[in-house]
Amino acid sequence: MVAQTRENQEGGASAKPRAKKPNAQWKIDGTEPMNHNEEFKLEDSGLNVRRRIEEKYAHEGFDAISDDDLHGRFRWWGLYTQRMPGIDGGRTAKLETRELEDRYFMMRIRLDGGQLSLEQLRTIAGISEEFARGTADVSDRQNIQMHWISVEDVPEIWRRLENVGLSTTEACGDVSRVILGSPLAGVAEDEILDPTPVIETIKERFIGDPDLANLPRKFKTAVSGHPSQDVVHEINDISLIGVEHPEHGPGFDLWVGGGLSTNPKLAVRLGAFVSEEQAPDMWHGVIRIFRDYGYRRLRNRARLKFLMADWGPEKFREVLEQEYLGYALEDGPEPSAPKHSGDHVGTHRQKDGNYYVGLSPMVGRVGGGLLTRLADLMEKYGSARLRTTPYQKLVVLDLPAESVEDFVAEAEELGLSASPSVFRRDTMACTGIEFCKLAIVETKNTAERVVGELEERLADVRDQLPEQLSLYVNGCPNSCARIQTADIGLKGQIIPDGEGGQTSGFQVHLGGGLANYRNDAEGELGRTVRGLKVAADDVSDYVERLIRRYIDTRTEGETFAR
Ligand code: SF4
Repeated sequence: MVAQTRENQEGGASAKPRAKKPNAQWKIDGTEPMNHNEEFKLEDSGLNVRRRIEEKYAHEGFDAISDDDLHGRFRWWGLYTQRMPGIDGGRTAKLETRELEDRYFMMRIRLDGGQLSLEQLRTIAGISEEFARGTADVSDRQNIQMHWISVEDVPEIWRRLENVGLSTTEACGDVSRVILGSPLAGVAEDEILDPTPVIETIKERFIGDPDLANLPRKFKTAVSGHPSQDVVHEINDISLIGVEHPEHGPGFDLWVGGGLSTNPKLAVRLGAFVSEEQAPDMWHGVIRIFRDYGYRRLRNRARLKFLMADWGPEKFREVLEQEYLGYALEDGPEPSAPKHSGDHVGTHRQKDGNYYVGLSPMVGRVGGGLLTRLADLMEKYGSARLRTTPYQKLVVLDLPAESVEDFVAEAEELGLSASPSVFRRDTMACTGIEFCKLAIVETKNTAERVVGELEERLADVRDQLPEQLSLYVNGCPNSCARIQTADIGLKGQIIPDGEGGQTSGFQVHLGGGLANYRNDAEGELGRTVRGLKVAADDVSDYVERLIRRYIDTRTEGETFAR
């Protein structure tokens, strides 16, 4: 009755239902662009800007760069303008991009599977020192990011990277981003299968493919054959997670449609078993579904998770099998719950009898100088392989048993701890206001300060602290540091300071977590606590109170995780 009354108020029972706007899905609505992003992508592929950088912009300089190249296509080669120093977070939303940006770039080097040889490590360290004022951060997507890059230096940086098999191709933009891979690929004693061949095949066949260089939005992939499920698979557009099929042996379980930021959603299982041989074609099928059926009208509804929310896993699997693969996938088993941590911090035995050591740089900051010293140390102790992790950590492989202790002691002196405090171990921070144009607050220095303060203040209860505790810090409502997946997630905001003014602070999210050994449960997104905001200066007070309350009130066997 109420509905009837409202209908009449809005124009009477005879009023025509408002036509639903098309979602600009290429396969249904055609490719006519419905916004400027779609326009510039159709006009000229992001991949083509490389030539202009090499032949024009690197010679003529920053001012010669066209707007669509600078704010659009440069991303296809891992380049974003960085924030102009000194602009406070309160002005972020009020200024145009041109007013916020500096004449320097962040450059993202994609490290598929997080795999680096000693030569590649030295090359990145050298580039950081020579062209990036010594900056280098390990991101939570296993990439390395540098800042202060001038467009004039980009061709030389590419030359050096490509000489050692690295690249920035499709490191950003509406494309297939870096492929997350288990940092222990090929070395773990308990590995179900090595994901490296699948990652390498996808990379060789499809990264830089012009047919896949205009997606509705970014497309994130994760592949792991390790039982700790160490690639945050629930928050990727597509994930392949190692399982043991009772008849076919090792293979993958397929997950689709995860993603954070606005409207965060966990990926869903399609219930399909994917063999190692099938995996690259299956990946190709899923990314083409996204290209062809993904929503392009509104950028904030373009990620694959929105299509998945409307279709559901049954329809998605049916379209994948019938329109893209041409065969039916077999049903497969679910992955077992992880038995131990997927951050791989500490010293562990490899299947060949050597050891790997997971090291914890502070909030992912490494820098060219530190990377050079790490390379020297690895060489001294006979390791030639390094892995980055989706937790902003480093894993050094192939250390002989007799060298491990000395290596760990020397790494500690470099500031790379193999036995970090619980706070340092799983505190992550995004780039934040130091370099990010979208940032509202500072993140990395804040997180580093909080880690130091908590280590000191909670020293009296060190033995009673939870074994792991995730504290993730974001500089804005985007979720580059995955705040919704943390025990304590902090989302940067300008908040009232209690005295009539404003200050940098955070909205608090609590109780998030992906499937892990602590909760033995499926992933769940953290929830905002209504009205709970903390000033940046008060974060340590807040976390200390929370932890002391947990210690005082916990019941037998209760972990800090939800
Ligand atoms: Fe920038 Fe926001 Fe992402 Fe942090 S979360 S890096 S501030 S966009």
